[in-house]
Amino acid sequence: MNFLTSLTLLKKRPLKSQGDRRSIKVGIPKFLNIWGTHQFWVGFFQSLGVGRIVFSSDTSEEQYREYGKGRITMDSCFPVKALAGHMGELLHKDINLLFVPMIYSLPSFLKGHVVDTLSCTRVMMSVENIKAGFLRERKEFEERGIAFVSPFVPFAEPELLPKYLWESLKEHIPGLTLEETARAVKEGFRALEDFERKMREKSLEIIRWCVKNNRPAILVLARPYHMDPGIGHDIDGEFQQYGFPVLWYNYLPLDAWLLEWLFGEEIRAGIIRSYFDISDVWTSSYSSNTNEIIWGAKFSARFPWITGVIRLSSYECGMDQPTFTPVQKIVESSGTLFFKFGELDETKPAGSVKIRVETIVYYLEKYSQDIIKKKLSRLGAVPSQLLV
Ligand code: SF4
Repeated sequence: MNFLTSLTLLKKRPLKSQGDRRSIKVGIPKFLNIWGTHQFWVGFFQSLGVGRIVFSSDTSEEQYREYGKGRITMDSCFPVKALAGHMGELLHKDINLLFVPMIYSLPSFLKGHVVDTLSCTRVMMSVENIKAGFLRERKEFEERGIAFVSPFVPFAEPELLPKYLWESLKEHIPGLTLEETARAVKEGFRALEDFERKMREKSLEIIRWCVKNNRPAILVLARPYHMDPGIGHDIDGEFQQYGFPVLWYNYLPLDAWLLEWLFGEEIRAGIIRSYFDISDVWTSSYSSNTNEIIWGAKFSARFPWITGVIRLSSYECGMDQPTFTPVQKIVESSGTLFFKFGELDETKPAGSVKIRVETIVYYLEKYSQDIIKKKLSRLGAVPSQLLV
């Protein structure tokens, strides 16, 4: 075969059939903002017909030691460093495409009511930062036959998403077109919305149980990845063991009748423009997680049966620092109890967490009924929808 013939053959080589997609095994590290967007990725890749989607395990010391060791490139907060363990673990799984999105902005229920819904810059750059640790000595992905794909992901601009995702995936997914990617993006959003709706319904069930039994609940204000037991150290679980239902701010119910009960008066008084307006307490509303934490604090300050707020934050978190005082003030101004577990890192101080939890439980048991009464006295009649 001469040189020209071989070129012609190369050009004419047909695209692999759609069926070949079943051999694609996508690995996704369960890190940072994947915690709030995983269902989008499941819906997206299922729509494209890939063979399987594999997530890494929860963060753990073993994972970090075994797979992340020697791959951390610079000092950073622990949730970013933990990515090395997640990526390393996936390299030992049966995958051929490692998908680690650089999430620039997030989908948020506050969109349209805040300035922007951006990710923390460390979150966005974590991928390049940790990837460098894998390529420092050798081409590790290539050697293992794994394609590394890391698209730029502006969730807040859904019209741009198909382009970025298509450009990064078209080489790896046979026959992938821009139109098909746009359809898969829609499927991804549909899956994410379904999941969030179910989570909010669950939270409403818990809230109704609290109302019916006049029992207090705890609200967690943290970043979504503090749900990872290796990052948040399962502190919320400790409270559940004492019989306190635990709600997370990012899955609070958003039913209009409930928000009208809590925020309606303030809208009519001209203090806020909508149920989701946080400009009365937070003007630089650029960061998605921060905005939602602030809104969660406002919700907790008004909702009678949330009598305690637990604030979790990671060591070295520059994003959380300016929020500590405002969040505490918002919560405590209503008489709601506020407790902070700041500077969480890879080590879980189990003993001291236990002692603190026991102390917090003591105060919750002692003061919750007074807090419920005081908060109820500031609101109108309890909506009938809460009493079912
Ligand atoms: S928000 Fe804080 S903990 Fe999270 S990645 Fe950014 S700096 Fe790290």
